Amino acid sequence: MYDPRSLKAEEFINHDEILATLAYADEKKNDLTLVREILDKARERKGLSHREASVLLACEDEAVTAEIYALAEQIKKDFYGNRIVMFAPLYLSNYCVNGCVYCPYHHQNHHIPRKKLTQEEVRREVIALQDMGHKRLAIESGEDPVNNPIEYILECINTIYSIHHKNGAIRRVNVNIAATTVENYRKLKDAGIGTYILFQETYHKESYEKLHPTGPKHNYAYHTEAMDRAMEGGIDDVGLGVLFGLELYRYEFAGLLMHAEHLEAAHGVGPHTISLPRIKRADDIDPDTFDNGIDNETFARLCALIRISVPYTGIIISTRESQEVRGRLLRLGVSQISGASRTSVGGYTEEIRPTDTEQFDISDQRTLDEVVRWLMELGYIPSFCTACYREGRTGDRFMTLLKNGQIQNCCHPNALMTLKEFLEDYASDATRAIGEPLIERELLNIPKEKVRNIATEYIANIASGKRDFRF
Ligand code: SAM
Repeated sequence: MYDPRSLKAEEFINHDEILATLAYADEKKNDLTLVREILDKARERKGLSHREASVLLACEDEAVTAEIYALAEQIKKDFYGNRIVMFAPLYLSNYCVNGCVYCPYHHQNHHIPRKKLTQEEVRREVIALQDMGHKRLAIESGEDPVNNPIEYILECINTIYSIHHKNGAIRRVNVNIAATTVENYRKLKDAGIGTYILFQETYHKESYEKLHPTGPKHNYAYHTEAMDRAMEGGIDDVGLGVLFGLELYRYEFAGLLMHAEHLEAAHGVGPHTISLPRIKRADDIDPDTFDNGIDNETFARLCALIRISVPYTGIIISTRESQEVRGRLLRLGVSQISGASRTSVGGYTEEIRPTDTEQFDISDQRTLDEVVRWLMELGYIPSFCTACYREGRTGDRFMTLLKNGQIQNCCHPNALMTLKEFLEDYASDATRAIGEPLIERELLNIPKEKVRNIATEYIANIASGKRDFRF
């Protein structure tokens, strides 16, 4: 039985409800009166249900598609302004006991070198990331209770936060590790993590079990209920995601929205972020062996529809995607992107990295400086801000501020101040030449005079050594 408030995976991601949703969407997709009513509802910026959004996904009318894109662009501007938050992944270990058929870290891959960073190596990786200008990381690890137990992950988080090289600091560590226990989530919370991210991979239970034939990840309910345990452990910022290409995208889209609805219904706070990864080529993985790959157009439509269906959520796109695709999706709703990523263990420090441990091929190979400059050329403000969770603006508090527009009063100045820090410490002359006048112009867009004055004064003092002021 379908029940969004239930804590049982098969009730909040109910297979029959998804099938009924897809049938409803097929039946209604040409009913333009209903489609327009749904679009009108989306314009209220309070989101759409999985059924409503699925009708829009199925509708092939060109004028409707244009409206969806225009609305996604507008909602993105209303909730997130022109800021794009920057981050980088840090791979700690590729030891893994799972058998995920799409991932080269699966345990039957005997030729891939296995590597786990020592604390000294973590330190060197973090210094390399700080020297690029990164302030926010997503740590990644395979699942292996012997090689990568929670104690190892916690030790790495402590090491990462303790390193201050030159003016560098990692101020927010998000965590993407396998589903775990309430007790372990509590330990992660106590270690000061930002968002706990876990991709569902696929919401389709039968496919899920085939794609994860062995290892603890085989357990669909344990994996799907992970966010509920994370919330119980005190982590109120959680990040969802589907690995597009594994199953039919319409099924995944409905499942993803049902998961978001469930978090709201059961815990009073929806997903902090939604990631949009697509399967990539990697070591012994050929993405063409999966039948459900989606083209760029469908991918863009999914992004736009997530933006209008869950208007408050951050949308993340990684370097799995090319510059061209990322540029398009930024307009349609993406609010966070990675830059200069390496998806191998030790990837940022040549002497550490064994060859060929990459988790997947990277399409966007540019440096962070180049990505930052490109974003500014497109009219965005790259933001290195990490203030929210450090100021206690998490979970419900963050969502309330975002939904009533007040978050702009801190996010915009924080973005400008951290961008200025980046320009001062790490940028090339070409990037600085674009960034300095941009910051001056954007400071004028801070509505509150008092905030504007404080930010302007802080920015003027960055050159003389001030760092890490935040609203
Ligand atoms: N091991 C953890 C887990 O099982 O959830 C998380 C870390 S894993 C390094 C991060 C994500 O990479 C996975 O959740 C999966 O969606 C994605 N991934 C795995 N293989 C991939 C591939 N070939 N192409 C693109 N993404 C992939």
